[in-house]
Amino acid sequence: MTARLAPARTHAPMRRFDVTVTRVRTVTPHLVRITFGGADLADFHDDGPDQRFKLFLPRDGQDRPLVPEGDDWFARWRALPDAVRPTMRTYTVRRYRPEPAEIDVDFVLHGDAGPATAWAARARPGDAAVLLGVRADHAPPAGAAWQLLAGDGSALPAIAAILERTDLPTLAYVEVAGAVDRVELEVPGDSTVRWVYRADGPDALLRAVRGADLPAGSPYAWVAGESAAVQAIRRHLVADRGIAPDAVTFGGYWRLGAPIDPS
Ligand SMILES: Cc1cc2nc3c(=O)[nH]c(=O)nc-3n(C[C@H](O)[C@H](O)[C@H](O)COP(=O)(O)OP(=O)(O)OC[C@H]3O[C@@H](n4cnc5c(N)ncnc54)[C@H](O)[C@@H]3O)c2cc1C
Repeated sequence: MTARLAPARTHAPMRRFDVTVTRVRTVTPHLVRITFGGADLADFHDDGPDQRFKLFLPRDGQDRPLVPEGDDWFARWRALPDAVRPTMRTYTVRRYRPEPAEIDVDFVLHGDAGPATAWAARARPGDAAVLLGVRADHAPPAGAAWQLLAGDGSALPAIAAILERTDLPTLAYVEVAGAVDRVELEVPGDSTVRWVYRADGPDALLRAVRGADLPAGSPYAWVAGESAAVQAIRRHLVADRGIAPDAVTFGGYWRLGAPIDPS
């Protein structure tokens, strides 16, 4: 991921949560909400609205993913044989509830090409996973008067959570496949959400942001989604709109044609 943090922030240490699927709900034809529960989640520390975590999924024939413990977990995970090394992907906590301790995660269903989306499409209560996290990046600078959010379906969970929790007037652009993929969002009275459809052609999100009538006052921007699209939008905001680079948080959430997380 190529996220950049606006102001410096401190975070609670990352920790591991062994979880089990408790509910599965179809939100749209391309989005499924999976609720995870488990005693470990009682220790969950909220880090901010776009908090992300590493999701580990079992390999065929395993009940639980085999995730190494300790500070050197990554090197040990990489060293595992292919047949047992769990799939690792990055997701966002859509919502955390303390009692009973549960988190919702919204998975984009983008076909069977990826192990995470394939797992989500077939997930059932009782399925096991491991989460490692959490870390948030959304960080408007002091003095920001408004914020721009822009992203595709993979960023929609974070955009939805930011809209629910922000004090800043917000202009949000969300790209989904089509009108059936729109979801209900809590939108504060001083904020606006504009839906953009991929069916309208390539670069639909970039073109929408290019055409935006931006409010006056000191801006903050948060952009996430397909890597090349995110880079192009960030370039536009900095080069053409004059937004300071350190007032833009951006993250390549997936990469067209290849996994973005190591396998
Ligand atoms: C910080 C962060 C937070 C994220 N939060 C979420 C989240 O809450 N919900 C969510 O759904 N995703 C989220 N993502 C994106 C998710 O990690 C990727 O989409 C990931 O590639 C999915 O893994 P996979 O196994 O399904 O596909 P991979 O094995 O990684 O990729 C297989 C193929 O699918 C394509 N592909 C991957 N993702 C998409 C997509 N979204 N749409 C279309 N094609 C795709 C790739 O280009 C590749 O060709 C987040 C990513 C990051 C970095």
